[in-house]
Amino acid sequence: MFKGEDILEFTSKFQTDLDCLFYLAEIKWSQGFTCVKCGHIKHTIRKYNLARDCNRCHHIESPTANTLFHKTRFGLRKAFMIMFEMSASTRGLSSSQVAKRYSISRTTAWSFMHKILIAMKSSNNHPIEGAVQVDEFVYGGKETLKQGRSTDSKKKKIVGAVSITKTGKVDRVYFKRIEDYSSKSLKVIFDEHISVEAKVFTDKWSGYKPIMNTYDITQKDSDNGAEMKQMHTIIHQLKSWLRSIYSWVHKDHIEKYLDEFSFRINRSIFKQTIFHKLCERMVESNHTSYQKLKVSA
Ligand SMILES: [Zn+2]
Repeated sequence: MFKGEDILEFTSKFQTDLDCLFYLAEIKWSQGFTCVKCGHIKHTIRKYNLARDCNRCHHIESPTANTLFHKTRFGLRKAFMIMFEMSASTRGLSSSQVAKRYSISRTTAWSFMHKILIAMKSSNNHPIEGAVQVDEFVYGGKETLKQGRSTDSKKKKIVGAVSITKTGKVDRVYFKRIEDYSSKSLKVIFDEHISVEAKVFTDKWSGYKPIMNTYDITQKDSDNGAEMKQMHTIIHQLKSWLRSIYSWVHKDHIEKYLDEFSFRINRSIFKQTIFHKLCERMVESNHTSYQKLKVSA
């Protein structure tokens, strides 16, 4: 397992495409090989590409088949480097930067980076507990100093949740794009990310009232952000990051960028193993094509 954030260690571990392929094969068949066609477990390993050749039906499966690495034509070493950079960088990368640095087309860079964003999507397995701040805000369109719930249709509406440690530090963050500020829309972030045991703080918006049936919610006056300081700091960071990297964020893509931002903040709990975790998620996710990504674009 690759650990840490040292780029020299990283490049010496992954010197060739075959090194990367070996790493993926170890993850994919960590529980042993079972043929996807016939269920047989005995197999032969092809030396030049580490594909598994089933001894019964002779179905051949490569380490990248049915993963997000499927048909990565520009080489796995470049793919690994891009993943490493995306997971380790605090500022994020644009697809045009990546295209230049790795001598690949911008479409290829965009497409692969979006696969990484899919893998970064939270698995929703660890709901946040303890003190949690929840707030809604808008991004894009004309920026005004006015706080609160804008109805400007050019702006993207987002709800965020931040869990706070006992010493007042940000623990984990999650964001969801919402269509409106109704209870039904706001409830989604509760269902997906917040434990019913959590002690939640919101502003005095009436949309949170019905959610109080299930959650322990304390409502406070927003007071120019004096309350919920951590949440407002995170929102500020998110907005300036979005502005610095993406000149134009389409509403159907913003969720992926929100996930990327959260992943990068939340990774501090598993900083040492972030690359490995990302690799595992890439192997576990079903492969998707540029065409499919474009449809959702
Ligand atoms: Zn078979």
